[in-house]
Amino acid sequence: MAPGCCPLRAAQVSSPCLHKTASLPWGARDRAQTCSPASHPQMLAVYSLLPFDNQDGGVWKQGFDITYEPNEWDTEPLQVFVVPHSHNDPGWIKTFDKYYYDQTQHILNSMVLKMQEDPRRRFIWSEISFFSKWWDNISAQKRAAVRRLVGNGQLEMVTGGWVMPDEANSHYFAMIDQLIEGHQWLEKNIGVTPRSGWAVDPFGYSSTMPYLLKRSNLTAMLIQRVHYAIKKHFAATQNLEFMWRQTWDPDSSTDIFCHMMPFYSYDVPHTCGPDPKICCQFDFKRLPGGRINCPWKVPPRAITDANVAERAQLLLDQYRKKSKLYRSKVLLVPLGDDFRYDKPQEWDAQFLNYQRIFDFLNSRPDLHVQAQFGTLSDYFDALYKKVGIVPGMRPPGFPVLTGDFFSYADREDHYWTGYYTSRPFYKSLDRVLEAHLRGAEILYSLALAHARRASADGRYPLSDYALLSNARRNLGLFQHHDAIAGTAKEAVAVDYGVRLLHSLTNLKRVITNAAHYLVLGDKDTYHHDPAAPFLSTDDTRPSQDSLPEKTVVRLDTSPRFLVVFNPLEQERLSVVPVLVDSPHVHVLSEEGQPLPFQLSATWSSATEVVPDIYQVSVLARLPALGLRVLQLHRSSEGLAALRSSTRLYLNGRDLPVRKPEAVPLHVFPAAANDFCLENQHLQACFSGHSGLLQSLRRAGEEQGHRVSSEFLVYGTRTSKDKSGAYLFLPDGEAKPYAPKNPPVVRVTEGPLFSEVATYYQHVQTTVRLYNVPGVEGLSLDVSCLVDIRDHINKELALRFSTDIESDNTFFTDLNGFQIQPRRYQRKLPLQANFYPMPAMAYIQDMQSRLTLLTAQALGVSSLSSGQLEVILDRRLMQDDNRGLGQGLKDNKRTCNRFRLLLERRTTANKVQDERPISFPSLLSHITSMHLNAEALVMPVALEKPVLPVLRSFVPLATTLPCDFHILNLRMLQAEDDSLPSTEAALILHRKGFDCSLEAKNLGFNCTTSQGKHQHLLGPHGNCHVPHPPGVVCGEGEEWSGWAAQEQHQHCRRVGTAALWWAWTAGIRLAEAAAAF
Ligand SMILES: [Zn+2]
Repeated sequence: MAPGCCPLRAAQVSSPCLHKTASLPWGARDRAQTCSPASHPQMLAVYSLLPFDNQDGGVWKQGFDITYEPNEWDTEPLQVFVVPHSHNDPGWIKTFDKYYYDQTQHILNSMVLKMQEDPRRRFIWSEISFFSKWWDNISAQKRAAVRRLVGNGQLEMVTGGWVMPDEANSHYFAMIDQLIEGHQWLEKNIGVTPRSGWAVDPFGYSSTMPYLLKRSNLTAMLIQRVHYAIKKHFAATQNLEFMWRQTWDPDSSTDIFCHMMPFYSYDVPHTCGPDPKICCQFDFKRLPGGRINCPWKVPPRAITDANVAERAQLLLDQYRKKSKLYRSKVLLVPLGDDFRYDKPQEWDAQFLNYQRIFDFLNSRPDLHVQAQFGTLSDYFDALYKKVGIVPGMRPPGFPVLTGDFFSYADREDHYWTGYYTSRPFYKSLDRVLEAHLRGAEILYSLALAHARRASADGRYPLSDYALLSNARRNLGLFQHHDAIAGTAKEAVAVDYGVRLLHSLTNLKRVITNAAHYLVLGDKDTYHHDPAAPFLSTDDTRPSQDSLPEKTVVRLDTSPRFLVVFNPLEQERLSVVPVLVDSPHVHVLSEEGQPLPFQLSATWSSATEVVPDIYQVSVLARLPALGLRVLQLHRSSEGLAALRSSTRLYLNGRDLPVRKPEAVPLHVFPAAANDFCLENQHLQACFSGHSGLLQSLRRAGEEQGHRVSSEFLVYGTRTSKDKSGAYLFLPDGEAKPYAPKNPPVVRVTEGPLFSEVATYYQHVQTTVRLYNVPGVEGLSLDVSCLVDIRDHINKELALRFSTDIESDNTFFTDLNGFQIQPRRYQRKLPLQANFYPMPAMAYIQDMQSRLTLLTAQALGVSSLSSGQLEVILDRRLMQDDNRGLGQGLKDNKRTCNRFRLLLERRTTANKVQDERPISFPSLLSHITSMHLNAEALVMPVALEKPVLPVLRSFVPLATTLPCDFHILNLRMLQAEDDSLPSTEAALILHRKGFDCSLEAKNLGFNCTTSQGKHQHLLGPHGNCHVPHPPGVVCGEGEEWSGWAAQEQHQHCRRVGTAALWWAWTAGIRLAEAAAAF
């Protein structure tokens, strides 16, 4: 064990029940067992256990026959809650706005009217994006009516997020942000805080969501799209309701009660009981003469005095059967579907007919049933009451589950693993927007605090708050399960893209405005002129589907000033790239000290440079969350730069070569031998012919590792069922990518970085090795510019094959928040073994760990020992029969960005590795942050006649612990929606990490918090017991951060959630920050 390092404690593993034996027969009931896979399901173990044999279950096709004794409810009657709901996608087949105008507004308008007709009626609503839009358009009277309906319990706001987010591709920053946005809206406008979560449609479920909901003070949640074989298993073992526990939580404080729906869908045919043919007859929107009918060919009948007895008995039979799958005698029966209840007639049809059935059932004591409309929380409350607990407690005898619900299959081998990659362009744009939003929130908060302290807020553009608010909402909207998932119609994807780009542009304005104020030496000279901004950003995106284009800084006789923003809460030593129009340049610090920089050519193609445009890569130390001022001077005396030199291997291709003027270039017609790039930490060797990575060796190690990369192509099946936006249905294993021509390989070597750029027809890949002290030089920077627009039914994959003996185990992250171990399952088809990778994936053996860090969500797998493989883009010509009605043919040129990190494990052991829990190293966390939060370069406008004095802005006087992450610093809304209040929410995250990875030469000068808040600012070792990756600032001992001792005076709950806390005065925050 390394000195100062602590082993993972056994207590970290919450479930003591990890036996892989004890296969349970279907239908086995084991309430009595207290420690078995059935009473403490651990999802990795469940996957090993299940046969996934897809046997025909009869009327419940994916289940089994359910029987019961008629007297089972004689002592304890069945209590039924029918929960009317309408699933409103904020964009899918239609855009958000179109859905609103065509359907959603009518649904909500009818809701207000129809709910008031009978106090026994109930309804639930979850998407605040739609609800707030409607709210803006209704009268004060109607608003009052809504508040009454919420107040008297008829209408329940469930989850209360801006959307019902995709849980595979979304990042926890955006998940939390959209939850805050919704909850703050609800608190302000309706005065209500959600209690129960409702997620019927996301395509698989992450264990991050239960944590966030619990921390938002919800006490229960519901999920639906879980693999049919898992549903069947949990139904057979009565484990469909459980306490969902975080694998890393040593106690039960973050457990939340979860209800899993048992059947195929959330529509009416699949929610009343096991037989869809019968349940469909109780969907009264499908009464004969309507627009939709029952595919099982037996239509509903309106309930009359004559038929009510027979109809009610038929329905009760389904209720009773469904109830047998659960442990309590309270039954939840959702009643709704997509965009339901948009016409008054539908309200009447459902509510009147059901009420007649309820009245009948409730009038017959011999049936031992009590049926009624209910909200989701009505159901949970009744359950809690029945088992004798208060909300939030674990119902006695109910199981505790750990793990997640990826990957999802709804039938046969139809795995929804394609959407982990679908539309990677937008998955990447999402994260770019996220990084800008976080940066803008923090800088705006700091600038505002400073301006208010200087009483200059009258001159500061406070109205930027509206831009922030709009960006929060656009980012929130994009977390919807058909948006970031890449599963909406083409025109809807464009609508999202336009919103994202619009907000990106606005956020750049918020950032440059704040930076302008903060770098001014004399704040009294501050003048905000929207027509002539002081700073600009150094790239532009001409349209929503184009990659960013770097702007060129024109050198002049007077110096050009740059302001560089570091959005990280750690100081970083980074290479800052700037394009200039001359090789004759000097770079100076704010104080006039020369800074080292590397001069390289810029390339318009594999072999042609852009004349007169050069890349200046400046090595600069950037303060944490701060702004650094740099100067570019045109020099008259020769070249001041550290020059790079380039070798170009044409590999037999006859291509025009345009050489740069100021940097050397050597052209070789034939393939080179293998070659290596090297810095003091790492040697990376490449094939001269393919230009692709072959091996990696860490400094001080005799043996290198084989780490060879290759591109592969998946096709799709020839049968009826083919891959589409949702599904991945490959035609077998991937085949090597076989381009028409060999690649052109361009090797650039320089003192600050070296790189290999390889040009294939469909993908250009650049692998860069930095040669600078600190974090940057410890991993390889890998980017893939992909363009597969001439492919037909193909998916392009990048695979790393190594000598790491990972067997069948690999690790993927969930929402960038936590790590979930995975096992390759041979009994499942290839496509079942893919998982979401929003932030990273790794493989390891006793000696080494190889981590692929990503800047965008993509699908990942490890199909063989030592392999790690990621899907880069997919082009599919047909619909995959999940309602979209389109293929995936709007591919764009997409840039996927990665880091590849090879680490040595020092204290690994087999027992520890068998546990269903894992953490990234601290270096991995920090590398991920570097990848996801690039420094932002802002040139000062050329037109300024007299330049004011500029000073670097350094908000933190000392370093924050390395395991701390300032997730956000977010000004709260004032009474006037478009303005900030005096309060800000500070969201801190203390990250759990694994100290069995080598900790020397990490290259950062922060230390960890050692898990003890009182030592926050003291000196520490470099490792501590992995701590749950919890959001810090909850219970007293968890809180750490700014002025920890004063927490209670300055930290208070905002809205509903323990997650987000506010400093009571924004100004205090700036003072606290400055005091560091
Ligand atoms: Zn949906």
